[in-house]
Amino acid sequence: MSVRRAVFAALPMIALLPVIVSAQSTDTGVIDPPLSSRNANYTIAARLDPGAHTITATETIRWRNITRATATELQFHVYWNAWRDSRSSYMREAVLGAVRPNADAALRSEGDRARIDVTAIHLVDPDVDLTATQRFIAPDDGNTEDRTVMTVPLPRPVKPEESLAIRIAWTAHVPRTFDRTGVVGSYYFIAQWFPKLGVLQDAGWNCHQFHSSTEFFSDYGTYDVEMTVPRGWILGATGVERERRDNGDGTTTYRYGQDDVHDFAWTTSPDYIVRTAPFRSGTLPPVTMRLLLQPEHAGQAERHFAAASISLRHYGEWYGPYPYGHITIIDSAFQSGAGGMEYPTLFTAGTRWIAPRGATTPESVIVHEAGHQWWYGMVGNNEFEDAWLDEGLNQFSEGRAIAASGVPDHLVLRYFGGFVPYVFNDVVQTREVDSNLLQVYREVATRDTPSTPSYRYFPTSSGGITYAKTALWLNTLERWIGWPVLQRGMSDYFATWKFRHPKPNDFFEALTRAAGRDLMPFFDQVYRGSNRFDYGVDDLTNVREGDHYRSVVVVRRFGDAIFPVDLLVTFTDGERITEHWDGVDRWKAYAYERPAEARSAEVDPNRVLLLDVNWTNNSKTTAPRGGIAATKWSLMWLRWLEDHLLTWASLA
Ligand SMILES: [Zn+2]
Repeated sequence: MSVRRAVFAALPMIALLPVIVSAQSTDTGVIDPPLSSRNANYTIAARLDPGAHTITATETIRWRNITRATATELQFHVYWNAWRDSRSSYMREAVLGAVRPNADAALRSEGDRARIDVTAIHLVDPDVDLTATQRFIAPDDGNTEDRTVMTVPLPRPVKPEESLAIRIAWTAHVPRTFDRTGVVGSYYFIAQWFPKLGVLQDAGWNCHQFHSSTEFFSDYGTYDVEMTVPRGWILGATGVERERRDNGDGTTTYRYGQDDVHDFAWTTSPDYIVRTAPFRSGTLPPVTMRLLLQPEHAGQAERHFAAASISLRHYGEWYGPYPYGHITIIDSAFQSGAGGMEYPTLFTAGTRWIAPRGATTPESVIVHEAGHQWWYGMVGNNEFEDAWLDEGLNQFSEGRAIAASGVPDHLVLRYFGGFVPYVFNDVVQTREVDSNLLQVYREVATRDTPSTPSYRYFPTSSGGITYAKTALWLNTLERWIGWPVLQRGMSDYFATWKFRHPKPNDFFEALTRAAGRDLMPFFDQVYRGSNRFDYGVDDLTNVREGDHYRSVVVVRRFGDAIFPVDLLVTFTDGERITEHWDGVDRWKAYAYERPAEARSAEVDPNRVLLLDVNWTNNSKTTAPRGGIAATKWSLMWLRWLEDHLLTWASLA
């Protein structure tokens, strides 16, 4: 019997479609014409047993080879096995950097850990049983104890543009929450939960192990998912509800579907209260916002909708419209550890019991996670290798959107275990320092080179490089070449790469095209280098020569990184001179002969170079002002305290 012909002939070939300008989205999650290649399509049926904390499921994956390579095997992510025991690469990395609060897996009881056991693997039509051929591999670090990548050899190779269907059955144990996934009480958040194909590329399978500080990567397709849960429980999921049936045995089956996404997550709990609200803004397509809220946060529904609307509006106007027609916001349960995470058409927010006005809880998390629909959802970069392409672009965009929306953003300190907040109305947080995480960046500025694959960053400094350094260099670029040019470059990148998998050079090329000049020297400094940026005024002297003064200002490059900076020199008679220094040499002296003395000199007076790790050496003056210095130092200390207390919580 010929396996190959029957398997491949049974499946229709779907042609790769050109970029679509507009698409209709309906309440069923169907998008026609397609926005993506739809080469990895999942039909899943899952049953949750809350008593045993298990999920029993089957999936049929219809996959098409859209590369120039021939596939001789399939590789799958089996993410939950990272939390099976303390010997997985994820857990070893978590211990190395103490990244996750859940690095205590070794101490957990079996019932609180996770696992996925694949019980059957079959090629479909005709049936070929491949169950016994599955094995685990560790392409990143060779850890033979890691079970997060499964390979299955194919009885026949799959050539370019050929397709196959494969059916997998598995049972999974739902953990007490690990890394935003699991169960607390009767609250379930189920993500990265099914055996998921890696991405076949021309160079072979791209299927990394699960690492403690990086995320995910997969192809686009159509998801059609049935979830069976106890009757009366509320359910939210990627896509929209297509069907609901009472099984007559105390359970309800929900069927959800969505086209043109690369992942599927869901949540269920008997406690959610459900709210919906429309998003409308100018010519942008309308979106129905669905909110699953914890009962104790019932009064905060409007703030959730308003914050999600900030992203739908600003990201939509700056980069391109949101095409799905619906978005689901999940308010995760207290201490579930599930807050602040993005999935296609769904994200988890994160609020507090007392959320005072004037502070951006819950707004900043919602704007960020909704924003991931653009950077991660629609533009599907490889989060294992280039995490900054989604997290960094999103951190930058979040800060910009919050500033543009005028949401008041004041320092908040929380007392009594975080329950009781106090808003400092006279301490306004800024986009540059707070949203862009300046202090987080400064602490880790030289610890990793951003062009290193993200999963190989040192665990504790990866956030500072991925989120903060990227946000700061994008904001530096905005201040240098202007927002209209940067916005044009980013929207061009979005239009070109939505529903595809770009690499960093694709982003750099889009920005270079928009700027109309070579920006590669800048990207060499901020992306391919790990050097410190630090410019300062080294010396300012005035010498009387007859009827005039000779003034000399020495500017210095204290760090190894290079960026062009301005120098502003102010004289006692009010004259001001601005110099443009290319910043290449280690120092440069500017001399003036004027009737008045030079009173002050300031390098980078407009704070274009936000990456400068030390602003206190940026200026010198001939008129000492001790009182001002004391005030400045106390403000810096307050800012340091503020940074430490607040920024860590916002890294999601
Ligand atoms: Zn994020």
